[in-house]
Amino acid sequence: MAAVAASVIPALDQRPVKNTICLFDVDGTLTPARRTVSPEMLALLSQLRHKVAIGFVGGSDLVKQQEQLGTASVPVTSLFDFCFAENGLTAYRMGVPLASSSFIKWIGEESYQKLVKFILHYIADLEIPKKRGTFIEFRNGMINVSPIGRNASIEERNEYEKHDLEHGIRKKFVEEIKAAFPDLGLTYSIGGQISFDVFPRGWDKTYCLQHVEAEKQHGTDYTTIHFFGDKTYQGGNDYEIYEDSRTIGHTVKTPEDTAAELKKLFDL
Ligand SMILES: [Mg+2]
Repeated sequence: MAAVAASVIPALDQRPVKNTICLFDVDGTLTPARRTVSPEMLALLSQLRHKVAIGFVGGSDLVKQQEQLGTASVPVTSLFDFCFAENGLTAYRMGVPLASSSFIKWIGEESYQKLVKFILHYIADLEIPKKRGTFIEFRNGMINVSPIGRNASIEERNEYEKHDLEHGIRKKFVEEIKAAFPDLGLTYSIGGQISFDVFPRGWDKTYCLQHVEAEKQHGTDYTTIHFFGDKTYQGGNDYEIYEDSRTIGHTVKTPEDTAAELKKLFDL
């Protein structure tokens, strides 16, 4: 397998199964949650890459995926044909960056400020047992809003979560933003203990499929798009792309599960 891994990767239009691409979620699919990839998985992906095109699609930024999938001497962008960080807002094709997008570019400064004013006023008037700091975190593809603030301690987070569950603080907050800005085309996701994400509708993992479809311009029409993910249930971050009519979805529980499915599907 080492010989395969070290050999030259054929061009995208020279792959034996030219019209097929395999896309992978990262956490729980290629790696154990928040951990690094195994050498066995990398070897298998390299073998697969000699048959079909491969790509990952992860919600975190590329720095995180480099930590989990790459090494100090191996850039993650050399291990996959397509790297879709932040669901594809940051994208690489054969090691070369594609046009990127951002939340602020999409929403514009004026609308953004209206939204921020509303959120900060709402938090200012909110009655909750504790408030700390960093109530809005500005990220490339979204904003993350936390009524208690992101620099709450672990203990304060646990307390907040319990309070939120009892009183529906985040749920109500999201409803208020929706009512105030019905036309912004935003979507909301309550996750983790203390916060929720606000991002444009459609900026889930299906976002990356436009990059895959754009390959037609380069002469490769991916008529078969396999997607592998562990959170394919409704409300999970793989749900939309798993359900999308353009993909063939595979639910896996662990990286070992992914490996077994790949061996079966592609005779590796
Ligand atoms: Mg996952």
